[in-house]
Amino acid sequence: MMDSIVAARAQSRARSNAAFREARRYFPDGTSRATVERDGGPIYVTRGEGAHLVDLDGSKFLDLNNNFTTLIHGHAFPPVVEAVSRTIRDGTCFANPTEHEIALAALLVERIPAIENIRFVNSGTEAVMFAIKAARAFTGKTNVVRFEGAYHGAGDWAEVGQSNSPANWGPVQRPSSVPGYRGAPASVADDVTVLPFNDVDALEHAIGSVGGRTACILIDVMPSRAGLIEPEPEFIQAIMELARRHSILIVSDEVLNLRQGYQGASERHGLTPDLITAGKIIGGGFPIGAIGGSSEVMRVFSAEHGRPAVPQGGTFSANPVSMVAGLATMQAMNEDAFSRLEHFGDQVRLGLRTAIARSGAPFCVTGTASLFRIHPRSELPRTYREAFMSAEQEETMRRLTRHCISHGISLPMGASACLSTAMTAADIEHVIEVFDDFLSQTY
Ligand code: PMP
Repeated sequence: MMDSIVAARAQSRARSNAAFREARRYFPDGTSRATVERDGGPIYVTRGEGAHLVDLDGSKFLDLNNNFTTLIHGHAFPPVVEAVSRTIRDGTCFANPTEHEIALAALLVERIPAIENIRFVNSGTEAVMFAIKAARAFTGKTNVVRFEGAYHGAGDWAEVGQSNSPANWGPVQRPSSVPGYRGAPASVADDVTVLPFNDVDALEHAIGSVGGRTACILIDVMPSRAGLIEPEPEFIQAIMELARRHSILIVSDEVLNLRQGYQGASERHGLTPDLITAGKIIGGGFPIGAIGGSSEVMRVFSAEHGRPAVPQGGTFSANPVSMVAGLATMQAMNEDAFSRLEHFGDQVRLGLRTAIARSGAPFCVTGTASLFRIHPRSELPRTYREAFMSAEQEETMRRLTRHCISHGISLPMGASACLSTAMTAADIEHVIEVFDDFLSQTY
C-alpha cells in the first residue's frame, strides 16, 4: 500500500492541463458535460483498462465512476469489444430493424417483471421524456409528481426540482417547483409537483389535492443525486396505494439503479411500477435508453389502430452497436455476477463504516448492491435536504476526493461511486485503506 501511495504522489497533470487550456477555446466552460469532475482541472483520459483509467500524463486510477455507473464490467470488457467489432463491419445503423434489438429486448422482458413490452431510445433523458409522454397519453392527465433533488435527465418536466437549494427550496413538506433553467416556460413548473422523499404525510397531502390531474409519480427508488437514499418500505407502499386510488401511473426511473440486481431496483424494493426507464448498463458503454412496461400502457406507442398516441422514433434508436454491446454486457451479468458484485459492495460499505466508527469522524455511507456514497455527516440522510452539503461539507469532500486521486483512486465527489466486475478484492481493500488513511490524517 505504501508503494502505491508514493508512486501516486508523483502524478503530473501537465498534459491534462494543456489539453484543458486548448479545450477552453472551443467549449463554454472547457468541456461538453457540466458533470465532469474539474477540481484542479479535468483529468483527460487516454484509455480504460478494466477497473482502471489511464490519463494523458500516464497515471492510472481505479475508476469508481465508471462513466456515471454505466460500465458494470469496467472498461473495454472483452465480450463487448468482440461483439461491437464484429457488428460494425456489417454497418452501424439502419432505417430497418435488426435481430439484435429483439435479442436485447427478450433478455430484459424475461428478467424484469414489470417489463412486458419495451422501446429503445438513445439516452436516459430520452427514456424519461417518453415515459412521461406515455403516462400523459394513457391517463389523459398532465401533472408529474416527483421527488426533490432526484435526477431524471434533462427533459423540461423531469428536471423541475432537481437542483433545489436553500435559497429557493421552500417549505420542507411542499418543496418549490424550481425549473431546470432560466427562461423555462412557467407552465412547465406548474405541471410538476415536487415532494420530499420518504415523507408519507407530504405525499398523501399532495396527492389529495393534485391526484385528479396527475399522470404519473416519477420515482428513482434510491435517488442517487439526492444522496443515494434508502427508500422506506412504508413510503413505497404509500406510493402504490395512492397511485392506484387516483389512477396515476408509477414510472420507476431505473436508468442508474437497474444495476441493483438481476431483476432491477423496483423488484428489489417492493415497488410495482407501470413503466420502467432504463439506460446506462443495458448499452454496455454505448448510448442507450429504454422505456418498458405493461403491454397495456406500452400500447400508446403502437400505430396498430392509426397514428400512435405517442409517436416515438429516433435516428439512432435500437442501433445495432448499442444493442450488441448491451446484450454482451447483460448476458455476462447473470445472477452469480450480480451476487459477486453485491458481495464486494457489502465489503466496501462495511470497511468504510468500520473506518468511520474507529476514527469517530463525522461521515456515513449510503448505498446498496454495487453502489455507495460517502456523506460528510454522521447521520444517514433520509431526504435530499438532509444529504445537501454546506460549503464546508463540500470542502471536506473535495479534500477526500483529492486524497483519493493522489492515491490512485477516482472517487466521484457529487455522484454515487460504483463497483465493476473488473475489480478485485485487492481493489476493494485499497479503497478502504485510502479512506482510512484520510480519516487518520484528518481527524
Ligand atoms: N435518470 C437517472 C436516474 C439518471 O441517473 C440519469 C443519468 N445519470 C438519467 C435519467 C439521464 O440519463 P442520460 O444521461 O443517459 O440522459
